[in-house]
Amino acid sequence: MVPLKSEEDLKMLQRSGQILGRVMKGLEKIVNPGISTLQIDRLAEELIVGEGAKPAFKGYQGFPAAICASINEEIVHGIPGKRVLEEGDIISLDLGVNLSGYFSDAAITLAVGKISPEVMKLIQVTREALAEGIKKAIIGNNLSDVSHRIQSFVEGNGFSVVRQFVGHGIGKNLHEEPEIPNFGRPHQGPILKKGMVLAIEPMVNMGSWESEILPNGWTAVTKDRQVSAHFEHTIALTEEGPVILTG
Ligand code: MG
Repeated sequence: MVPLKSEEDLKMLQRSGQILGRVMKGLEKIVNPGISTLQIDRLAEELIVGEGAKPAFKGYQGFPAAICASINEEIVHGIPGKRVLEEGDIISLDLGVNLSGYFSDAAITLAVGKISPEVMKLIQVTREALAEGIKKAIIGNNLSDVSHRIQSFVEGNGFSVVRQFVGHGIGKNLHEEPEIPNFGRPHQGPILKKGMVLAIEPMVNMGSWESEILPNGWTAVTKDRQVSAHFEHTIALTEEGPVILTG
């Protein structure tokens, strides 16, 4: 069963998401050639704690950091460390906020300095795929209408969607039902209802959709080692349509 949130829950989730939005803005400013992923992680934790919240990822299933920092061919779950960003890299930042037990989750892919037009297009298409998926998150639609829209949009632009990782419900836990694939046929799965809160997160590869996990047990990379981008928002389903909580 997909848990539905009350008005009170939604207020708290909105606050959690607003904190995440502000933190993300702070991180965007410091992503530049020469900074290490650990420095970005430190700032993320400082900003989250400064807002009176907790980094939701830290300690989750043993994850050691506040953010996932995934560079170039890394898709998701990159562990922050000493690696320094270089001109021409792209980096996906994925983070979660826990405000008094109310969770929000968002991700963004950023260019480090100047990048090639093809990679710029990959980032742009992934950002738009998220927006297109969110437009289908309408009460009365099936969940897979979101999935199908994302896949068609991405593949129509010549890229591929990752299969191994999917979006998810969120709220009083970081991961709740339902799973939200970024692929699939339309008109399948649960009917979307008022009060559902969803983390929709297309992961889009320049080359093949196939992925694998590095020996550290966390970092997912593209099998062909071509670049990958990731955007995510936490949204609430309301009678007025989908509302982005992590804006
Ligand atoms: Mg997520």
